[in-house]
Amino acid sequence: MTYAQAYETGKNILTKAGISEAGLEARLLLEHVCGTGRNDLLVHGDRPVDSVQCSSYEQLLARRAERLPLQYLTESQEFMGLDFAVNGHVLIPRQDTEILVEEVLRNLHDGMEILDMCTGSGCILISLLRYSNDCAGLGVDISGDALRVARKNAENILNGFPVKVQFLESNLFESVEGMFDVIVSNPPYIPAGDIEGLMPEVRDYEPRIALDGGEDGLDFYRKILEGSRCHLKKGGMLFFEIGYDQGEAVSKMMKDAGFLEVLVRKDYAGLDRVVFGTRSFA
Ligand code: GLN
Repeated sequence: MTYAQAYETGKNILTKAGISEAGLEARLLLEHVCGTGRNDLLVHGDRPVDSVQCSSYEQLLARRAERLPLQYLTESQEFMGLDFAVNGHVLIPRQDTEILVEEVLRNLHDGMEILDMCTGSGCILISLLRYSNDCAGLGVDISGDALRVARKNAENILNGFPVKVQFLESNLFESVEGMFDVIVSNPPYIPAGDIEGLMPEVRDYEPRIALDGGEDGLDFYRKILEGSRCHLKKGGMLFFEIGYDQGEAVSKMMKDAGFLEVLVRKDYAGLDRVVFGTRSFA
């Protein structure tokens, strides 16, 4: 089979499975299997795809047709211009989360100590360390399997950068010690009753513990705010990613907890996405 024929076959299979970006995804799977790039389809469409490559490509197409997310098949996702490894133990990094990282970067100073609560793939913490100077970071997650992914990402992405990064398996703050200048978190925030209505890629394949925010979706904000009383320095800053309709509720929770200058930032779709504020000195 030629490269262009393999692409067409894949595109048809994914279109029939109802995948909206069927062409794009077929091309990406083919590139993954053949170790090729985006120009190959345009310039080398007549090159042969050998039988081993064909059969791995077919297997990937079949899994994708079952709605397994593309990123779990290619085992990678770009985030903040960096290449993160992912697997089914971690949430796939979202472009919206870059808004959170950028807001933290605007407020970060050299040498600060950062805690990333519910670090997952480590995408937030590792990007912050990669794009700042001399900061130290601790990534916390309840899942040892997720932390294996985060550690691998830190090794790959921060290799050669003089930063201090550590990961800790802990149920929220249970095993955390010390005080931090910045606490950042993209915690699970989907209301439990909404999970069944999510797209199958998310509902059936992304880790449920990375999604489920309890009955009203706000459980983790409550608990992290509580924990920040003992682990966020006075004058330190707390940053949350939130769901599109949680801006008001989470801002109020932060103000009630004594945070000052509480602000909400929107994502590229114009929806509330980030809430942050400063712990008072009182
Ligand atoms: N912090 C990770 C991310 O933003 C994981 C978030 C989560 O598991 N809810 O991708």
